[in-house]
Amino acid sequence: MTDSAQSDSDVKQAICDYGRQLLEDGLTTGTGGNLSARIDENHVAISPSGIPYEEITPADVPIVRTDGTVVEGEFDPSTELPMHLAVYEERPEVGGVVHTHSPYATTFASLGEPIPASHYLISFTGTEVPVAEYRTHATQELGEVAVEALGDSFNATLLRNHGVLTADDSLDDAYTVALMVEYCARIHHQARAIGDPEILPDDEIEHLAGKLDGYGQ
Ligand code: 13P
Ligand code: ZN
Repeated sequence: MTDSAQSDSDVKQAICDYGRQLLEDGLTTGTGGNLSARIDENHVAISPSGIPYEEITPADVPIVRTDGTVVEGEFDPSTELPMHLAVYEERPEVGGVVHTHSPYATTFASLGEPIPASHYLISFTGTEVPVAEYRTHATQELGEVAVEALGDSFNATLLRNHGVLTADDSLDDAYTVALMVEYCARIHHQARAIGDPEILPDDEIEHLAGKLDGYGQ
């Protein structure tokens, strides 16, 4: 664990808060989706499996070792723990992971179509949102295809016929990426419904990613 008990409890609180936020922002329905945050090199906090987000309290949030062993909490961790752990293992800079079933992005996941750069905010995720091959939910294999699709440059991937996975420096940032993926998916869907959206070139998206890093006060 971390030196301070306070920071573990902050992380657990954040898992609860962002879980409720998933429902409020329409990024999932029911108990779908899950969230995690790195606590230190060897430990991760993750949402418990199958508990309604409104009911999860910080004490219910499991802490697991990166080998998958639960070290704190009475409830089973999310069934997508293997996928979350695969991301932390492959991407040491990642501090937070979010999985959603957000409807517009999942529409493209069901088509097996990446979300292209028809809006500049795709730069939160990379030059596009790629699609990971279909694998059964809650398996090691799903984790393998997800990290393959993320590679070392994407902050999000679609999970074919399932949903969305995002990863970034912190849970806050991974959550923002999940919002951006859904927004870009909605705009792309709408634009395609009435026309033929122009796709921004990769070099413009790469340029924008640097600009967004410096955005805000
Ligand atoms: P959990 O409730 O086990 O986190 O599963 C939800 C989900 O989205 C499975 O893919
Ligand atoms: Zn899911």
